[in-house]
Amino acid sequence: MEFLTQIIDTIYENFFDPKKRVFVGYLLSAILISFLWLCIVKKKNLAECFHKIFDKNIFFSKSAKADYFLFIINIIILMFLSPVLITQLAIATVVFEYLHSQTLLMPINSDSHYQFLIPYFFTITYFVLDDLTKFITHALMHKIPVLWEIHKTHHSARTLTPITIFRTHPLEGVIFVIRSALTQGVVIALFYYIYGDNITFITVLGANLMSFWFHLLGSNLRHSHIWINYWNWLEKIFISPAQHQIHHSIKKEHHNKNFGVTFAIWDYVFGTLCTSKDNEVRKFGIAENEHKYEHNILYLYISPFIGIYKIISKYILSRFQNTNKKTFIIKN
Ligand SMILES: [Zn+2]
Ligand SMILES: [Zn+2]
Repeated sequence: MEFLTQIIDTIYENFFDPKKRVFVGYLLSAILISFLWLCIVKKKNLAECFHKIFDKNIFFSKSAKADYFLFIINIIILMFLSPVLITQLAIATVVFEYLHSQTLLMPINSDSHYQFLIPYFFTITYFVLDDLTKFITHALMHKIPVLWEIHKTHHSARTLTPITIFRTHPLEGVIFVIRSALTQGVVIALFYYIYGDNITFITVLGANLMSFWFHLLGSNLRHSHIWINYWNWLEKIFISPAQHQIHHSIKKEHHNKNFGVTFAIWDYVFGTLCTSKDNEVRKFGIAENEHKYEHNILYLYISPFIGIYKIISKYILSRFQNTNKKTFIIKN
C-alpha cells in the first residue's frame, strides 16, 4: 500500500511541482504559445487551432500510449535504483576537499559591494554548465554504439507529446542522474569554496530562475507535433522546438544533429547544428531495422541488452579472428 502511495505521490509531483518539466503550469503555457503561434503566425481560426493542438491521432497513437506506460514503469524502476546512485553531496564533498588541497584557485573575500550579484552568477553558471554537460552526454549517447542502443528507446517514438521526454530506458535515466549529480556537485563545491556560504540559487516557485523561464517559454513543445521555429540567427543561439523535432526526424541527413537542450551554441561550435530553414520534418522515429517492435513495452526494455550483447559478441569474435589470422601468418 505504502509503495502504491509513493508511486502516486511521484506522479503527482511531476505535474504539480514547478521544478518538474511537465508541471501543469508549463503545459498550459505550451498550449497558450501553440494557440498564439497557430492563430497569429499560421493564420488559423480557433477551431482549427484546437483540432491541431489536441489531435487525438497523436495523443492516442500506439507510440504515445507506449510513452505513458514507460513514464509509470520508469518511476517504479528508478524508485528502486535511486538509493544506490551516487549523491551530488558526496561528489561536492570530494571536489571541495580537493580544492582545499590545491593553491591555484583561492577563495575571494566576500565583503564586496557586488555581493548581491553572486547568487545570479551562481544560478546562471550552473544552468549554462548543466546545459553543456547535457549536450556532451546526449552527443555521446549517439556516437558510442553501446550508448546508442540505450538511447534508441527515446528515438523509437513515432509521435511526440510532452510525455515522450519520459520515453527513455532506465539505464539512460541512471546515466543522466549521474551527469546531473556530477555537474551540481562540481559547481556547488566550486562556488562554495570561492565565495563562501552565501551561495543560493535564485528561484521562482522553488524552480531555478533559468529553468523556470526555459519551461514557461515552451520547453514542452520540443516533444510535440507543433512546428515552432525561430529566426535563423536565433536558432544559432537557442534550440527551437522545431530543431528538437529535426533531431527526432527519420531522415538520414537529420541524424546526429541538434544535441543541445537550451543553447544551440554547443551544436554551432561542434558542427552539429541544423536550423529549421528548409528542414521541415515529415516523419519521426528511426529506421525499422534499427528497432523492430517500437511499441512493445517489453521489447523497449530488453532491446538495449540484446543490442549491447550483439556489439560485444561481434567485437570478441573479430578479436578472435584477428588472433587466428596472426597465428596463421606466423606459422606460414
Ligand atoms: Zn537523441
Ligand atoms: Zn527528444
